Amino acid sequence: MADRTDKHPLNAPGTYYNDNSCIDCDVCREMAPAIFRRDDESGASYVWRQPQSLAELALAREAMENCPTETIGCDG
Ligand code: SF4
Repeated sequence: MADRTDKHPLNAPGTYYNDNSCIDCDVCREMAPAIFRRDDESGASYVWRQPQSLAELALAREAMENCPTETIGCDG
């Protein structure tokens, strides 16, 4: 379960977030490139943009469910 007290500092404000446990596996960025991006400095993914449509919400949820480290969280 993602830790909402340890969010990546670059997350776009909103429902979805990444904590700081990312191992840079690339799954979320492959699944939802419009939502997740890599921060080269921390070597980790963060929520670059919140999902805007039902299709993007489904992709964000899918990425969350497939993240091997449960880095992706959802407050909704
Ligand atoms: S799927 Fe999880 S571990 Fe992999 S890059 Fe995304 S946030 Fe990091």
